[in-house]
Amino acid sequence: MCLPHWGVLKTMIIDKGMGGLIAMNAKDAHQRILDEVEGNVFPATYDPLMAADWMLAGMAVKCCGLYLMYQKPGDTGSGEYCPLCEVEDAGVKFEGKSGFAAEWLEGCTDLVLSYCRENHLLPRLQ
Ligand SMILES: [Zn+2]
Repeated sequence: MCLPHWGVLKTMIIDKGMGGLIAMNAKDAHQRILDEVEGNVFPATYDPLMAADWMLAGMAVKCCGLYLMYQKPGDTGSGEYCPLCEVEDAGVKFEGKSGFAAEWLEGCTDLVLSYCRENHLLPRLQ
């Protein structure tokens, strides 16, 4: 994910009240991923920011195609495709409409928030 979209995603996670659940740093995030891979899944390992990132990447692959898994030709940055930039570009190209990336960010962060509430990571709404 590109830095501008990562920044928007992180801000939305924090603004929706999930800031206390995200990894404090890269080392913490890495350890949480290792815990999940090893099957040590418990509330303290859940990171709504990483969950949203993976969700968006998976949705973009389903929508746009497997090319997103490869190196982006000619990219001088991370060399990776940004799923949100690709979805935004596809929306303009194929639907003649902008704003898909914002819609995906809103929907994805709402889903992650619901997950946190349903799994008692955050207080449920009364
Ligand atoms: Zn992007």
